[in-house]
Amino acid sequence: MSTATVVGAGPNGLVAAAVLARAGVEVTVLEAGPEIGGGTRTVEGIVPGLVIDHCSAVHPMAVGSTVLRELGLDRYGLRWRLPEVDCAHPLDDGEAGVLYRSVEDTAAGLGADGRLWRALFGSPSRHYDALAEDVLGPLLGVPRHPLLLARFGAPAVLPADVLARAFRTERGRALFLGTAAHAFRPLNRPLSSAIGMGILTAGHRHGWGVAEGGSQAIADALAAVLAEHGAKIETGVLVRSAAELPPSDVTVWDVGPDQLPSLLGDRLPGRVAWAYRRFRYGPAAYKVDFAVHGGVPWAAEPARRAGTVHVVGSAAENALAEREVHAGRMPQRPFVLVGQQYLADPGRSVGDVHPVYAYAHVPHGYPGDATDVITGQIERFAPGFRDRVVGTLVTDPAAFAANPNFVGGNILTGAKDVPRLVFGPRPTLRPYDTGVPGHFLCSAATPPGPGAHGMCGAYAARRALAHLGIAAPY
Ligand SMILES: Cc1cc2nc3c(=O)[nH]c(=O)nc-3n(C[C@H](O)[C@H](O)[C@H](O)COP(=O)(O)OP(=O)(O)OC[C@H]3O[C@@H](n4cnc5c(N)ncnc54)[C@H](O)[C@@H]3O)c2cc1C
Repeated sequence: MSTATVVGAGPNGLVAAAVLARAGVEVTVLEAGPEIGGGTRTVEGIVPGLVIDHCSAVHPMAVGSTVLRELGLDRYGLRWRLPEVDCAHPLDDGEAGVLYRSVEDTAAGLGADGRLWRALFGSPSRHYDALAEDVLGPLLGVPRHPLLLARFGAPAVLPADVLARAFRTERGRALFLGTAAHAFRPLNRPLSSAIGMGILTAGHRHGWGVAEGGSQAIADALAAVLAEHGAKIETGVLVRSAAELPPSDVTVWDVGPDQLPSLLGDRLPGRVAWAYRRFRYGPAAYKVDFAVHGGVPWAAEPARRAGTVHVVGSAAENALAEREVHAGRMPQRPFVLVGQQYLADPGRSVGDVHPVYAYAHVPHGYPGDATDVITGQIERFAPGFRDRVVGTLVTDPAAFAANPNFVGGNILTGAKDVPRLVFGPRPTLRPYDTGVPGHFLCSAATPPGPGAHGMCGAYAARRALAHLGIAAPY
């Protein structure tokens, strides 16, 4: 029987392990932290019984992930819950751009921008399940659906602020740019539309789902698949060198590429080591979880029904905030993503006290305290919010960096600039290969990039199976 070691139990490591184990490989997973899940974990906090997602919260890409569906995680307890409104983007005049799962409902609410919204997302979202094989894969692969991909991809290569200029209303512009901002990139750069276009297209097909009981349910379901196939998971094991690992035929690394030169040492080809050492991490997240009595009193009514709220104001303010963060300056009014997962999954609340998840985009490694700035941004669009806060839990960039893949608090495992969006962690057509036979990289630094969709893990596992001469079941 072939053997595999997977280092790191984030969603990509767990998916890689599950794909290998289902193909009949004997798998051991080693995780540095005290529990599995990496960026897909849930804790109880602030008040007893309140359910808080530590990192990933809202999962348009995971609901439609071909590998998560293939693994049948619903049989292991994973249930997706959808909010009534996927996302709202409130403005200072009390109005909001409102994103519904339905393209038609979204377009109807956007007035003069309805046609453009339909043109951008109507056809791609109808064909998303076929398109996903290309969108959620290496950008430089041979597309399986070239025409569909071309239709989706043509606008996606544009800078987000250029595409935003085609919108005639502030609501449409802000809604689009707020989603593009998920990439933590200046919104005037080429390909800065790509991640937002992917999220919006996936969301219109599958919704901005949250996992019932918290995102940990994704990791737990994957662990259950592993248990069923006899795989072992050991936590509290920080791997410092490949030499420490038990002998195995293949090793799959769910780590930041910058770790690989020391992990693999001299075995790594010089040019690969050079590229991994140059791997850069982008801006950070500063997160405040609030326990809020009665929920957030948003002035814009649709935001009270929205699973996600983008809190930054106009499109111009959003572009400025991302530019500042990228330049290493803390904006006075940063982009804040607010998650109200409890609206779709009420079991996370304790009576009328609700968990409200919020993180701001801040400079890489930001050492300051952004709690007041985040609170102020929410208060700006929800007067009276401050008075409803019962307690808070802060996770700053240094705390995120306890996960070695979130260097400087960069929660995307790498700056999503053009070379990394096109190639992955280094210039190669084989982004999952490390150049050391039998060793593969599967973290969110590889295509298709960040998110709890597990696709990086699936593709890396495929490479590992090819190395073992086993036909990939997926
Ligand atoms: C605040 C925040 C909000 C987010 N929101 C969303 C969201 O709403 N939706 C979404 O889809 N995604 C979201 N993400 C991103 C998502 O969590 C990540 O992209 C995803 O977790 C990446 O998975 P991964 O398996 O590549 O790595 P990770 O989840 O980072 O897991 C890597 C694991 O490997 C372990 N490890 C690393 N090095 C070693 C080593 N040397 N030895 C042993 N173990 C090691 C780490 O301890 C960690 O557990 C968010 C992330 C954060 C932090």
